Amino acid sequence: MRKKIIAGNWKMNISPAEAAAFAAELAGKIDGKNADVIFCVPFIDIIPVLDALKGTNIAVGAQNLHFEESGAYTGEISASMLKGAGVKYVIIGHSERRAMFGETDVTVNKKAVTALKHGLIPIICVGETLAERQIDITTELVRLQTKAAFAGIAKADAVGCVIAYEPVWAIGTGLAATSVQAQEVCAAIRAVFGELYGKDAADAVRIQYGGSVKGSNAKELFTMPDIDGGLVGGASLTAEFVEIVNY
Ligand code: PEP
Repeated sequence: MRKKIIAGNWKMNISPAEAAAFAAELAGKIDGKNADVIFCVPFIDIIPVLDALKGTNIAVGAQNLHFEESGAYTGEISASMLKGAGVKYVIIGHSERRAMFGETDVTVNKKAVTALKHGLIPIICVGETLAERQIDITTELVRLQTKAAFAGIAKADAVGCVIAYEPVWAIGTGLAATSVQAQEVCAAIRAVFGELYGKDAADAVRIQYGGSVKGSNAKELFTMPDIDGGLVGGASLTAEFVEIVNY
């Protein structure tokens, strides 16, 4: 039985002074017994949010990292810095980073390898654009993204990763995939993961759905057989996140 995993992606929102108070407020209302809950916060908010969450079972995630260990990479952050701060998870290959910051399947793989080397749990994002869905290449595309992301990663490491299926057309649009659409693609991701690592690994790996998850659709989405929770953007910045986690 896979434990549900629900992550909030705060994106580039909430300054440090407000982040701690907001995290503490949400934490007080979240029942984290039946699901792993993560706040993926801006780098500058990591320390205050970690402080605010002490004594809770909510973890902190980052939204990106660099694949190099250290060096002349102005504006970037390394896996060891995140690990040293107390971060547990890191989102890799979010569609906003793929679309706006030049992230590719190759850099996603490099980042996943580096994250795992440092004991961070990658949340690897895959998903199709509307144009790709319309020409019916969704399954092929997410299969390819998944295979590329896990290139060279051993089974023992891969099984501990989280994969987030996020159709690009559903992110921030208010138009979530239907539970049937989301289930279909999450099942395809689980199938390709099984081809890579075997059925036991496919049965164990956790796959999230992300894209306009709300309090009103969380239960229907997260109770589909191959959906193990969600990656939540907009609604993670409001009290609705509590409703989503406590669904
Ligand atoms: C996201 O950014 O990962 C996301 C799913 O956003 P939203 O929930 O706002 O669609």
